[in-house]
Amino acid sequence: MIKVENIHKYFDQQHVLKGINLSVKKGEVVSILGPSGSGKSTLLRCINFLESPTSGIVEINGKKVNSESASKKDILDVRTLTGMVFQQYNLFKNLTVLQNVMIGLTSVKRINPVEAKKKSIEILEKVGLQNRLNHYPVQLSGGQQQRVGIARALALNPEVLLFDEPTSSLDPELVDEVLTVIKDVANEGNTMLIVTHELNFAREISDRIIFMEDGLILEEGSAEQIFSNPSVERTKKFLSKVL
Ligand code: ATP
Ligand code: MG
Repeated sequence: MIKVENIHKYFDQQHVLKGINLSVKKGEVVSILGPSGSGKSTLLRCINFLESPTSGIVEINGKKVNSESASKKDILDVRTLTGMVFQQYNLFKNLTVLQNVMIGLTSVKRINPVEAKKKSIEILEKVGLQNRLNHYPVQLSGGQQQRVGIARALALNPEVLLFDEPTSSLDPELVDEVLTVIKDVANEGNTMLIVTHELNFAREISDRIIFMEDGLILEEGSAEQIFSNPSVERTKKFLSKVL
């Protein structure tokens, strides 16, 4: 489903990803843990080409793109196969909740407005926002805004959902409502890659956990194995600090 082969990323002289190899199967939920600055966000952003990897290959659903020879079309293709949920929601502030979800359907997928509206309302019901369709982002709590962000990503039916610390901007009492929605999305069989600091959540939801440090994957395994018996000292230390 997703295959990442030997991705390197430099920002000027700084070598941020140092050869990442990763495969995610259809329907698999994989969480990425690791200290700040280890390259987790950069990895997600390289997978959908929000950042261009300096070298390496990204393959999603059979669409294989070599970063060194990627055309605009390749990049657009990869991007339409992915949906991303950002830490800061990234909603359009001048659009209502419904319009924020519809816009991808009408402008990217060219679905007619009547159908786009119907589908958007269905998805907004799923994330519990059927009573907020005509609100603007500023009129919503952080948790509600993030649920719009999730609905917007889901609306496009992507092959892969990428979450970059989806609850890190939220007040603690709003975290659970968003995690519950993400769990529901996972239980529907979606393929997901999640960067998170919510370790209990990661443990509960993930088929596999990846631990990154300094631009490399140091360790990966089942949630059970990583949490109860990490084989690498660095992973142990990280988990013991934050648990
Ligand atoms: P955090 O847990 O704090 O979000 P992270 O693991 O997501 O950290 P990244 O955001 O991927 O880390 O950053 C990895 C390194 O790359 C950092 O040193 C960061 O300063 C650098 N970096 C990230 N994005 C850019 C950019 N657009 N330009 C220059 N340097 C960048
Ligand atoms: Mg990050």
